[in-house]
Amino acid sequence: MGSLDALIDVQTLDTRADQLRHRRDALPQLATLAQEAATRAEVEQRADVARGRLHELRQRQKGLEDEAALVEDKAAEIDRKLYDGSVVAHKELEAFQEDHRQLKARQADIEDQALEVMEAAEPIDAEVSALAAEVAQADERIAALTAEVESARGEIDAEAAVIASEREQAAANVPADVLEAYEATRSRMGGIGAARLVGNRCEGCHLEIPSAELEAVRKAADDAVVTCPECGRILVR
Ligand SMILES: [Zn+2]
Repeated sequence: MGSLDALIDVQTLDTRADQLRHRRDALPQLATLAQEAATRAEVEQRADVARGRLHELRQRQKGLEDEAALVEDKAAEIDRKLYDGSVVAHKELEAFQEDHRQLKARQADIEDQALEVMEAAEPIDAEVSALAAEVAQADERIAALTAEVESARGEIDAEAAVIASEREQAAANVPADVLEAYEATRSRMGGIGAARLVGNRCEGCHLEIPSAELEAVRKAADDAVVTCPECGRILVR
């Protein structure tokens, strides 16, 4: 086996490593994962808006309840005065009774408003819960997909490690200058730096080599590095 046959082995292993890298970056789960993440973000945003509205309503309800309690305290104070004997004048009693009646009416009115706000908050509370459940479900799907990606990548990485070690062994049989020329060509030519010459055709660019140039290629010494006149890749004869 000539030194250039080992170069073809290097090329084959490099191509397989490139394919693995591509597979690693383009796992089908990654697209689903991106979709799930976008859905989660959208639901989370809706949940944030609903939580904001719920918080606002709860604050309003609390404000009304506090106000009702304040009015109730005032009414109770008047009630005390009405019955502790400190007010005796009929007109004054009547005025206090009217105040008390008005305060109780106001309290009832505020309590009604608080109840309305509480009722308005109920469907929003349910919406917040439903959206939180949706986010939790999305999280589960994201976790499962992430685990799938990690597992698939683990397998790919193990395969890549085997290929890297095989590549190292193959490369040891290729002269350093040839390997260097190969690597430069490979990076310039989209991954393929060396190709077989099959008949009069370069397997790298699939073009036929003109007969005059083919003659020169055939006459070159076995261990000479010859490149394809069409694409510049190292030809392995
Ligand atoms: Zn070529």
